Amino acid sequence: MLLGFKTELKLNNQQRIALTKHCGVARHAWNWGLGLTKQILDHNQANPEAKIKFPSAIDLHKWLVVLVKSEHEWYYEVSKSTPQQALMALRESWKRCFNKTAGVPRFKKKGRRDSFTLEGTVKILGSNKIQVPVIGVLKTYERLPFGFAVPYGGKPSCRAVSPQVLIKSCTISRQADRWFISFRFDVDQQTAENTTAVPLLGETPRPDCLSVVGVDLGVKNLCTLSTGEVIAGAKSYKKYEAKLSRMQWLNRHKNIGSANWKKAQLQIARLHRKIANIRKDTLHKLTTLLAKNHGTVVIEDLNVSGMMANHKLAKAIADMGFYEFRRQLTYKCTLRGSKLVVVDRWFPSSKTCSSCGTKKEALSLNERVFCCNHCGFEIDRDLNAAINLSRVVS
Ligand SMILES: [Zn+2]
Repeated sequence: MLLGFKTELKLNNQQRIALTKHCGVARHAWNWGLGLTKQILDHNQANPEAKIKFPSAIDLHKWLVVLVKSEHEWYYEVSKSTPQQALMALRESWKRCFNKTAGVPRFKKKGRRDSFTLEGTVKILGSNKIQVPVIGVLKTYERLPFGFAVPYGGKPSCRAVSPQVLIKSCTISRQADRWFISFRFDVDQQTAENTTAVPLLGETPRPDCLSVVGVDLGVKNLCTLSTGEVIAGAKSYKKYEAKLSRMQWLNRHKNIGSANWKKAQLQIARLHRKIANIRKDTLHKLTTLLAKNHGTVVIEDLNVSGMMANHKLAKAIADMGFYEFRRQLTYKCTLRGSKLVVVDRWFPSSKTCSSCGTKKEALSLNERVFCCNHCGFEIDRDLNAAINLSRVVS
């Protein structure tokens, strides 16, 4: 099973310059390719009889070598895979656009989502050193997935990469003033048979692999579990959000492009990152908790666009999206050998009485306590829904 890994880089000035140059080339290649492909599309629309074939990533790269690289010496200062990968990403982006799963690709601006991909062998040299093509050895703050295999019962850990494992590419990106590296690596996933035998490194074995938990994603709280546990989620970002809007307001009159404006932009970007990190952390903790402690996790399939419009979800989930919540839960469950059950969105989880099973006709959103007309049972609305969800599989 492929897992992603992303961590911050600890750089010196020379490395920072090299990475910035790579970002520049990636952006230039992308923008050049986008301009060209847009012209081709315009031409084909204007001349339906004399259409030009839409280029592949390889075509684009061939043209780039002939037309662009010769004009711009600085292309030779960076890895040749960087513009290649940028054009491949552009081609993928057009493909998604043609399939109508995404919008039209957009031109990249300097300093906005700067990133590039390096192709070639990436080697993890130690707990915090990684070797990438062309640029060389980079340091990280965090421990890399390396060298701590075989922790329990002779079976390899899920998080360890043995030196033989090949990582074939990595992506380096910038957020405000920090740089990150990300790559994918293969891990042994746990199957249902060996779940009890191999806990992940640093984790205690799961107490009960047979337990079933229903999860009701909430408005006020992050979620309610059928076990009665309520997870409130992070509150701390609210104060940063207030600070952010104040900062944006205070800086509204600065001259765009001035030194003070740049300073303020960096501060704002840092704050954005902090808030996003708190939310990301909240969501990761929740999905890990669920996958780690329960044999089966039952969630409701949510209509995401409807949810967003109604603000019916806690901000951490609304912001990251239900799709992300489900994605994390899916891979974490697979990794730990737990089962994820997604219940149809029309399942009446909140309208049904968890005591006698009678279904209510209508339930308004502000009824926080569920009262059954049939048996007189009273229970917290969210807990009632979570219990109903957990009953789906048992
Ligand atoms: Zn009842």
